[in-house]
Amino acid sequence: MNSLPAIERFQSNNGVRIYRIPLEVFTNGFIGYAYMVLDAGLPTLVDCGSGFGRSNQDLLDGISALRTDFGERLDLSDIKHILVTHGHKDHFGGLERAGVPAEPRQIMIDMYGFAKKHVRSVNVDFTLDEDVAFEGMQFVHTPGHCPGQVCIILGDVMLSADHILSRTTPHQAPESITNYTGLGHYRDSLRKVEKLDGIALALGGHEDPVRDVYGRIHEIQQSHERKLNRILDIIKQIGQPCTIYEITEVMYPGKTGYDTLLAIYLYQHGYLSVANLDEVELEDNPALRYLAV
Ligand SMILES: [Zn+2]
Repeated sequence: MNSLPAIERFQSNNGVRIYRIPLEVFTNGFIGYAYMVLDAGLPTLVDCGSGFGRSNQDLLDGISALRTDFGERLDLSDIKHILVTHGHKDHFGGLERAGVPAEPRQIMIDMYGFAKKHVRSVNVDFTLDEDVAFEGMQFVHTPGHCPGQVCIILGDVMLSADHILSRTTPHQAPESITNYTGLGHYRDSLRKVEKLDGIALALGGHEDPVRDVYGRIHEIQQSHERKLNRILDIIKQIGQPCTIYEITEVMYPGKTGYDTLLAIYLYQHGYLSVANLDEVELEDNPALRYLAV
């Protein structure tokens, strides 16, 4: 069994104590974090793992370690709120299994209702509003990676969920599959966080703490910019109307995945046109062929 990273303690400039509790959220060793937030109102757990494999046990062990290793007088029954940053399994699955923690008030963040299809197994007590602080926390709706995702601001610390991670640029699925996902929303959400002043530390749902939040946002923006330009170049290079599949073969030889769908973003934002609209009218579901505008 892999050993987990250590629990880490962070403190915001307004005195909130934030404990990062590592969990093996998928049995392949994939690590995600739950955060125990203390002294921002009532004790609040942010995200709670997947409920798979050892994820729940890791969470229980982590919470007891706050007592034994950090001297926090905290029992499971003291946890009054659970906030889920977004409706992906590795962040809320732990809610579905009994016993974690005792009689919690389960607050599922579902700000604009678009995340519903992802969260059907969890009861929503009430929704949160961006303009209204809750227990000393401010919420920022950051759709893109997941429709209902929120980042949580605690003084100069931001719990950034999977919106801003230290190494990975979070995957994006096209909005044609799910409302409020997709690169367009994601880039808007990056700009939204970029405009917030004074964030000294971002703690994500995975990977390392990010100290230079604004620099990291810039890196992620550049990375998407490069990919989008690459797609435009490939289309010009192919020189005739081509499908997303054909673009993908050049961009990621031998691979398919979410990135392959980036061309849809370029189309939706007016960089590409569909060259075979006549076929689209005649056939049921022809492959769309794109051309650079
Ligand atoms: Zn995640």
